[in-house]
Amino acid sequence: MQVSPSVRAVMVPDDNPMHPDFTCIYTVGDGQVLTIDSGEAIDRYHWFIKGYLAATEKAEIALAGITHHHADHSGNLKWMQSELKAEIIAPKHGLPLLKGRLPRSGVRTFADGEVIELDGGVRVRVIFTPGHSTDSVVYYLEDEGVLFSGDTLLGSSTTTVHDLGDYRRSLQMLAELPNLKVICPGHGKLIWDPRERIQMYINHRNMREKQITDILGQGGALSSWDIMLQMYPDLDKRLRRAAENNVRAHLTQLEDEERVKVHAGKPRRPSVAKQRRQEEHARERQKVIKLAKKYETEQRRAELRAQENPASSEWIEPPRYEAN
Ligand SMILES: [Zn+2]
Repeated sequence: MQVSPSVRAVMVPDDNPMHPDFTCIYTVGDGQVLTIDSGEAIDRYHWFIKGYLAATEKAEIALAGITHHHADHSGNLKWMQSELKAEIIAPKHGLPLLKGRLPRSGVRTFADGEVIELDGGVRVRVIFTPGHSTDSVVYYLEDEGVLFSGDTLLGSSTTTVHDLGDYRRSLQMLAELPNLKVICPGHGKLIWDPRERIQMYINHRNMREKQITDILGQGGALSSWDIMLQMYPDLDKRLRRAAENNVRAHLTQLEDEERVKVHAGKPRRPSVAKQRRQEEHARERQKVIKLAKKYETEQRRAELRAQENPASSEWIEPPRYEAN
């Protein structure tokens, strides 16, 4: 889908309860393009990216960027390099979070405010927007008014927040971007009323904070889980932990601002023996998974090899044909 003269969206259907619509991959530029995010490390994304490249014919991926380290955005970086020869770009402080997902070489880092120059004078600015995660960044193509927001702003829902103070500051910064016309989020539909949406997010956070202070204002000490249950009585159960994390983010900010006090909890620490048992089980599980994968690969290879030769398992001597 064409978003603006230089931007196309590849919308990949998703069934993850955290983002039920689509996960989006964007391409910027013509010929040598920049991709923003690349999806989870599953075949579906490979097909969609390759399908896009086939459909647009001339496009080649020169740079593969990410908006943050989460696996549904950075799962295919190695593949993007090995299969498509893309150079990987990422913020330096995010590299340690990408462990195991980066190729050994061909990775370039960028700084806050850096401008990426693409063919045809297309210029994309990277802006650090911590909050959803510590390494969240957005990309801004100011000439065309297109903002790539990753999970900092989502198309169809509100996002989860790692550091709420940072997040609110990042939102404020985005609300002030000049010439903003459309937001291309990491998941869900494009946002064509960007300023209203950002203001809605700012208001949403203010509203959630007020809900929490109202609940606590009734007196008594509550856990973040109890507060979550009061705030979201009808929530899909699979989303409760995520909602609790949001509540805790607010509580942390309220604690930092000394608006609530905390009664320390008592963490559960498994016994040394139990920990050892768990580690042993984890190792066993890994071994079995590795073995299963190996057999699967071997079988697939054998199947492919079989295609090269006559079906000797079906025929000792195949029928032969001769002209009458
Ligand atoms: Zn995501």
